[in-house]
Amino acid sequence: MRITFWGAAGEVTGSCYLVETDKARVMVDCGIHQGYPEAEARNRRVPWKRDLRLDAVVLTHAHLDHSGRLPLINRLPGEWRTFATPATAALTDILLEDSARLQEQDTMLANRRRARAGKPLLTPLYTPRDAAESLSRLKSVAYQTPTQIAPGITIRFVDAGHILGSTSVEMIAEDAGRTRTIAFSADIGVPGSPLLADPTPLDRADVVMLESTYGDRDHRPMEQTLDELTAILREAERDGEKVLIPAFAVGRTQNLIYHMAQLHREGRINNLPVYIDSPMAIAATRLYLDHVDILDADARRLAEYKSSLLRFPTLRYSQSADDSRRLNDLRGAAVIIAGSGMCNGGRIVHHLRHNLWKPGVHVVFTGFQGQGTLGRELVQRPSSVRIFGETVAVKARIHTLGGLSAHGGQSTLVDWASHLVGPGKPTPRFFLTHGEDGPRAALAGVLRNRLKIEAERPVLGQTVDV
Ligand SMILES: [Zn+2]
Repeated sequence: MRITFWGAAGEVTGSCYLVETDKARVMVDCGIHQGYPEAEARNRRVPWKRDLRLDAVVLTHAHLDHSGRLPLINRLPGEWRTFATPATAALTDILLEDSARLQEQDTMLANRRRARAGKPLLTPLYTPRDAAESLSRLKSVAYQTPTQIAPGITIRFVDAGHILGSTSVEMIAEDAGRTRTIAFSADIGVPGSPLLADPTPLDRADVVMLESTYGDRDHRPMEQTLDELTAILREAERDGEKVLIPAFAVGRTQNLIYHMAQLHREGRINNLPVYIDSPMAIAATRLYLDHVDILDADARRLAEYKSSLLRFPTLRYSQSADDSRRLNDLRGAAVIIAGSGMCNGGRIVHHLRHNLWKPGVHVVFTGFQGQGTLGRELVQRPSSVRIFGETVAVKARIHTLGGLSAHGGQSTLVDWASHLVGPGKPTPRFFLTHGEDGPRAALAGVLRNRLKIEAERPVLGQTVDV
């Protein structure tokens, strides 16, 4: 059996594996490369041949770095389906459509400049129609339900606790008369995080694909982060000031709503209005509420108790562009949660332009800020930034909170791996993916010391025989 790494090999984006047996060919994830200068070119230079015949695709979760290249395989021959959990299918619907729309928009803007410069025009990587075609291939499979997806290949999804619907995958494949089990960790969440169940480990495999995003460190404890957030919110409420929180629409925004609802129940914030200023975040929040059955026990209890999950009296949704603009005229204290999480686009940029120059305002970063983004610039506390061609002074107080990651830290990854080794189990061949080289090397070292595992670190395009 052969496995080829078509992404997330030495980087955290572009997840894509091809598994080939003597009977079938299955792709696991088909994510987009993101966040570095050559990503765009890499996405356009697809690694597969045009006549690659697939039997099935497996999608581990909705994040674009796992789903965002699905529209590029529509033209491959064959009648395959893309298998995902029901919640992943629903979230992918929102994310892929939005991604296609943004790509069209960005290409249109770039082409205006290119036309004026006499340069040849670009075509978008894909269009909403391509995204719709990918979505029509989705087939839902519930957690813990062994399902044959291709000749000789069965999968079982287990909850990875990373975002709503996310999975690790156990794949059992027949090849040349023998059966092999492959464990794909995909993105592993943080045990004890709100809303989601803890990651479910897999307990035996011949081959393991383990993510390594934070292979080199553990996160700060969540309690400490929540204390810092609470202090900022209480101070803003007392002083009648704004708090701007750039946040990714899926996952992070729902966690923030969950925490703020709790502070409200505990009487620690009282009349502080909280605005969710993002149609995508509003849609994603609705999906979390539609899938209460797969959330953790606390969340299910809250949903039963006066439907108080992800709801509190001062929570407001701001859907339209007009609603969003009206937030500029708000008087008094308020929290505004808007995308994008790294401030490289979206409604948050407008709020930053309107507020960064005001000394009382708080800006709270809760996630990773990529190189070259406005978010990265702001966390370095410059005296001013350029927004829409205008210089804006940075007088607002900038906070960076570290403990709200959706990815497990080093200890979580090692614990997940430890369930796959031990007496009476096969000795699996480990491959570290979905991590930059530093974290991968650090995780390889810890796995060697603690579990006697010699993990391999594949490169982009590499094929291994297993
Ligand atoms: Zn992810």
